[in-house]
Amino acid sequence: MTVRTRFAPSPTGNVHIGNIRAAIYNWLYARHEGGQFLLRIEDTDRERSTPEAVQAVLNSMNWLGLNFDETPVYQSTQLAAHLAAAEKLLAGGQAYKLDKGGAGKGECIMFKMPGTDMAFHDEIKGDLRKAAKDLPDFVIVRSNGTPVFHLGNVVDDIDMNITHIIRGDDHVENTFRHVAIFQALGAPIPKYAHLPMIVNAQGKPYSKRDGDAYVGEFREKGYLPEALFNYLVLLGWSPGDDREVLVRDELIRLFDFSRVQSSPAQMDMRKLQWMNGEYMKVLPSTLRSEQCRAVLQTRGLWHDGISADYFDQVLNVMGERIRLFTDVADQAGYFFTDNYPYDEKSVQKRLKKEGASESLAAIREAFAGLEVFTAESTDKALHAVAEQKGIHPGELVHPVRVAVSGTAAGPSLFPMLEVLGKNRVLARIDQTLKQFFA
Ligand code: GLU
Repeated sequence: MTVRTRFAPSPTGNVHIGNIRAAIYNWLYARHEGGQFLLRIEDTDRERSTPEAVQAVLNSMNWLGLNFDETPVYQSTQLAAHLAAAEKLLAGGQAYKLDKGGAGKGECIMFKMPGTDMAFHDEIKGDLRKAAKDLPDFVIVRSNGTPVFHLGNVVDDIDMNITHIIRGDDHVENTFRHVAIFQALGAPIPKYAHLPMIVNAQGKPYSKRDGDAYVGEFREKGYLPEALFNYLVLLGWSPGDDREVLVRDELIRLFDFSRVQSSPAQMDMRKLQWMNGEYMKVLPSTLRSEQCRAVLQTRGLWHDGISADYFDQVLNVMGERIRLFTDVADQAGYFFTDNYPYDEKSVQKRLKKEGASESLAAIREAFAGLEVFTAESTDKALHAVAEQKGIHPGELVHPVRVAVSGTAAGPSLFPMLEVLGKNRVLARIDQTLKQFFA
């Protein structure tokens, strides 16, 4: 039997990481088994399912490299099949018509549950059961003639020959109904794997309020798709040892349900950033600079005067500090504009200090006298000033850093000064003295 999995999103706007993780697991399992991975757009809610929302799904999948094997199925085109299945159930006595309100509003079609306790095996959660009394009959076609989710979902899975249904565990309760419909329609019951929720630090479902939650946001922030992919796979699954950075082929080889955890998986943004940094390290440098430049352009920090050589030097000096492409603008913007903001905390801590203006002035003088302005020469000059003043070099390093970059955080000072160059460093110290001490 060839394994066939599917991702069946309801396109409602943004693609949540919980949903795309379900897509990733479906994709990985199909690839692991040499089977097929399909896409079904569950777009029967005509108000919420817009073409833009469908496009958002396709873009997210494309960005993450989740290729599907057959033409996507749009559920809205399958209504006739759903209604035909309802007719078949009516004819077989497994469904019946009911005027629900009793007010002549028209009849809906009810599915008749078997009336026995039910159980199904979940590849992640084990055996799940439910008592007959908690499994009442339910509507499968509304009185306005539209099929409900449960019917469409099952009929489409039968049509598409889906063998494994991998989805969020918010669908566990539905599954008892779905199993009953599969049985009533005489179709083989697929295997189920219900994935644990992604939760926040408080153990509540992870949402927009907790931070970035949609695939598009991670893309805009400058995350690498491979890093997000790797991170989301680990959010609920492990390879059985402590490896974390695993390339796609390795994930395909290792993935199965036995090591998917059944407890909720906690979103950890710091870990994702770390992961991104790991992928950044091995990214070809031309790709890295191209993407960084694109961010600078979007932020209005790029101008034609920036030479390829200068840009390389900046990226070199920033090194592993650039974990996201957007870091180049957020953390290294001062390399590209003289109009950089001063971080208030850094100013309070490093500039508004007894002796800071005298230190800056002394350094300015020492730097002005340098013939060659390199990491080495500025380092030496700064230490000489410190010695002369009988102070710790740190007393000078920090104010200089804040003066030339606006922030107390950043790469090693001296290489950074070399990249900025003598003229700019002097001008920035002057400008800082004027702004904060005049
Ligand atoms: N459209 C449903 C959802 O997004 C499908 C669930 C399923 O995978 O069966 O929740």
